[in-house]
Amino acid sequence: MVTIMKRKDCIVQREPKKELDNRCIACNGSGKYDHNGSPKCDACNGTGRKMIMTLDEDTVADVAEFLETLRRSGETNMMGAGPYLKEEFGFDKYEARDYLLNWMTNYGK
Ligand SMILES: [Zn+2]
Repeated sequence: MVTIMKRKDCIVQREPKKELDNRCIACNGSGKYDHNGSPKCDACNGTGRKMIMTLDEDTVADVAEFLETLRRSGETNMMGAGPYLKEEFGFDKYEARDYLLNWMTNYGK
């Protein structure tokens, strides 16, 4: 006997993505200028995400300390520090980018 699974049983319910709050204002999250698929949205570099998220102050401090240690270690060019942040702090790639950019922007000030 063959049991045919109803289609609705196959659908996995997914939580709405919380990063919708971080949608790029310029392209409304599409990452594109128009519906033809090009060019990439400048404001978010095609990611559909705001370039700057609200950064947590305590985390910013921790990230700064971590990045300073990393910089001194000479292990990586700081442009390549994103993956280290992802691993150390559990960021997604956007968070890693934003915290890294924030640190580089403020470095030495
Ligand atoms: Zn955009």
